[in-house]
Amino acid sequence: MLSNKKKYIVNGNSGIKAQIQFADQKQEFNKRPTKIGRRSLSRSISQSSTDSYSSAASYTDSSDDETSPRDKQQKNSKGSSDFCVKNIKQAEFGRREIEIAEQEMPALMALRKRAQGEKPLAGAKIVGCTHITAQTAVLMETLGALGAQCRWAACNIYSTLNEVAAALAESGFPVFAWKGESEDDFWWCIDRCVNVEGWQPNMILDDGGDLTHWIYKKYPNMFKKIKGIVEESVTGVHRLYQLSKAGKLCVPAMNVNDSVTKQKFDNLYCCRESILDGLKRTTDMMFGGKQVVVCGYGEVGKGCCAALKAMGSIVYVTEIDPICALQACMDGFRLVKLNEVIRQVDIVITCTGNKNVVTREHLDRMKNSCIVCNMGHSNTEIDVASLRTPELTWERVRSQVDHVIWPDGKRIVLLAEGRLLNLSCSTVPTFVLSITATTQALALIELYNAPEGRYKQDVYLLPKKMDEYVASLHLPTFDAHLTELTDEQAKYLGLNKNGPFKPNYYREILGIFTDVKKHHKYLPSPSTPEKSLSTCCTFRDPMSSTIKKKEAQAS
Ligand code: NAD
Repeated sequence: MLSNKKKYIVNGNSGIKAQIQFADQKQEFNKRPTKIGRRSLSRSISQSSTDSYSSAASYTDSSDDETSPRDKQQKNSKGSSDFCVKNIKQAEFGRREIEIAEQEMPALMALRKRAQGEKPLAGAKIVGCTHITAQTAVLMETLGALGAQCRWAACNIYSTLNEVAAALAESGFPVFAWKGESEDDFWWCIDRCVNVEGWQPNMILDDGGDLTHWIYKKYPNMFKKIKGIVEESVTGVHRLYQLSKAGKLCVPAMNVNDSVTKQKFDNLYCCRESILDGLKRTTDMMFGGKQVVVCGYGEVGKGCCAALKAMGSIVYVTEIDPICALQACMDGFRLVKLNEVIRQVDIVITCTGNKNVVTREHLDRMKNSCIVCNMGHSNTEIDVASLRTPELTWERVRSQVDHVIWPDGKRIVLLAEGRLLNLSCSTVPTFVLSITATTQALALIELYNAPEGRYKQDVYLLPKKMDEYVASLHLPTFDAHLTELTDEQAKYLGLNKNGPFKPNYYREILGIFTDVKKHHKYLPSPSTPEKSLSTCCTFRDPMSSTIKKKEAQAS
């Protein structure tokens, strides 16, 4: 049930005061005990933050106050104390952060507008465990506007924006989260969301599977009233498949992680935006005229190459697949073997999802000051372990930046120790998070409103129709005008005029297939195969047609 990376040591009778060790997180945290260090940890990698995003970057410093929020008596302006945040007085600042995020989350704002008359989540009691950031706040407030009651904890002990948590608490959301929680605090916060007198959740929104795990362990009877789980991360989805395989999944679950829009935005567009951000923040380098080699021309590689080319860099590509290689050529990049350019390049970026793409031999041959980083999922792409030998000196020059120095004085600049650069060293664009948040909201609406029997106790993928709907809600931002099929054209193509416009396997055409396939290889085969919702139901715009009619009349 639990992944290898995150180890839980639970003391038998100690109830919620379990001692839990997060191997990766602890290591990260202990490395940088200073205040500045702690602030930078919002971008450090932990189990759940490697596969779900937080764009956390705090602009206030509340670290001077060392009192644990659990020891504080705080009330919001309405007199409620049903929350636990670092400092409720930061609410106003957090509200401004939320308002900024709203500008880049058009689909959620559109859902709120549409739901003015109708509350598709009326009666829903959602318990959530996600990164607590301005973007999550927009999601929570949207769920509230759609009629749901929410209680929320953080899925990562470092990623909470304290001022945002304060703003949510001030506006009446029971939020239990602060930045720099201890492991014990982490589970205490989750428990405070779930274990409440007179309130029982009927929906779960999880990111990483910890909340689901806690309810399974501590309050299994709650599942009698829970209608479904919406899970966002690779790790959480993995756990759900394991539960399903063991025949222990007792409610339907939605796998939001593998929805096409999410994958496409995460891989191509997010990397196109964040590669420069990650490099800039760590090295302050100028890109114009620099020689860069990008290993892998899949979705992530395409994004990185496009961004660097646009900045005036000279970009080389390495590929093993002739189709992607040809695409690189057609896009104007020189296709080379790494050996051919390794002596001359200023930056090496890996994004293959493979291992040992950059070997010690390559590292030995790089020129002085060459920057080496990875944008792929795992830290196996660059053979970092081979650099931990006695003749090489490591010098930590900044958070996430190491100089590795050879005996002759040559040094290379290794970023994030070979882990994902953008997740370790930059933030993720709000618009990318908007796609995910909208998908989560729609999945909650669908599961909550689904008639008895539509979903079994299984893990479901989101149908193309829902992806299309999420995309369409984002189009007005660009004043984009979508062409509608004529009856004749729809008949000619054999399509419904309202979609879905592509078959479910379209993700494969998009080139996401390899990624999905790899991902599934990590998973034990589910007991029952994944089902696409579209085989069970026709996903409809969750807002009623009456609202749509009203909108049409108004316009
Ligand atoms: P992809 O499968 O579309 O692309 C990977 C490409 O690398 C393929 O074209 C493959 O042929 C090529 N490749 C494999 N081994 C190679 C080698 N030894 N040398 C050169 N090329 C090689 O996958 P993708 O969607 O581009 O994702 C790539 C990696 O990035 C994955 O690990 C994925 O999980 C990760 N990812 C990162 C982010 C991020 O924000 N940094 C976002 C999404 C995905």
